[in-house]
Amino acid sequence: MSNPLMSKKLPAVYKMQNGKLLNKLEFIDYFENKVFKTIKKFNLFDLNDKFVVAVSGGKDSITVLYLAQKYLKRKNLHKNLIALAINEGIEDYREHTLEFLKEFCAKLDVELHIESYKEKYNKTLDSSIKILRDKKTNISPCNICGTFRRTALNTGARKLGATKVITGHNLDDEGQSILLNMMKNNYKVLPRLGPSNGVVGDEMFIPRVKPLYLCTEKEVRLYTIIKGFDVGYDECPYSKDSFRSNLADTLNILEDKHPGIKSSLINFYLTIQPTLREQYVKEEGTLVTHCTKCGEPSQRKVCNTCEMRAIIDGENSNGENSDENNANQ
Ligand code: SF4
Repeated sequence: MSNPLMSKKLPAVYKMQNGKLLNKLEFIDYFENKVFKTIKKFNLFDLNDKFVVAVSGGKDSITVLYLAQKYLKRKNLHKNLIALAINEGIEDYREHTLEFLKEFCAKLDVELHIESYKEKYNKTLDSSIKILRDKKTNISPCNICGTFRRTALNTGARKLGATKVITGHNLDDEGQSILLNMMKNNYKVLPRLGPSNGVVGDEMFIPRVKPLYLCTEKEVRLYTIIKGFDVGYDECPYSKDSFRSNLADTLNILEDKHPGIKSSLINFYLTIQPTLREQYVKEEGTLVTHCTKCGEPSQRKVCNTCEMRAIIDGENSNGENSDENNANQ
């Protein structure tokens, strides 16, 4: 808890929706409590779990790593947590965030593992994008990157013996995912969103959980600044023109004009999620199929990752089954 005498002297740094002003110590309490309550409310952590935190070196993953460790430390379970980063191979960007990440993990005394697209898929993201551009496909960089990342995270976490993958998705990311999938008529993806991913279980799929689910991007950013986490705020060079980033801009404009709409969107989703999941199970059943090429869990005969690889390697032609929701999910 913050020291009330000190708190009074500090200027306000944050205005809550009810108008209440918080100074930095009060904000830290508010933010951390919100994350810890989210973990409890949605049963995100089982104390027998072995956790892998998916980290990129950005503000969200750094924050969730720090707070997951803090939460588990109170229960003396922090040694059950490992960090896993994916090096996509984005020149002049990812190498900087990975350097920061190595230092941050060393300071926290958290083991860090790094998987790379180059090793796993034989190509960096940069070279894959170049090939797809030369072939004039309509597959966006975030589409291919997100698809490859989901597989790399799942197989990487499985290799490390994890039973849960913790991700840094925040309320803004989730709001964008809901709208994005609605606008692209990806109705089968919608039930799989939420604070913990997945509708049906499969032992090859490591469930993903999102402790920052109820925290806005602004709140996460403010937290990292106050805590002095020296996170670089550079953006991935491919992020600018994605559908997701256009949606993010639109939602920010709307939120400025109508404060609270992002939270309302999330609450709306949480209300209808049980019905969506029930419907999904009715239509799709509870059996999980596996990709006939790589054996990973997949909704289709050939998974998105194998399909993308085939297009890049010249074995296929379009990638129309892929969707941009894969980015950041
Ligand atoms: S912005 Fe797109 S290309 Fe860049 S790391 Fe994220 S998903 Fe990958």
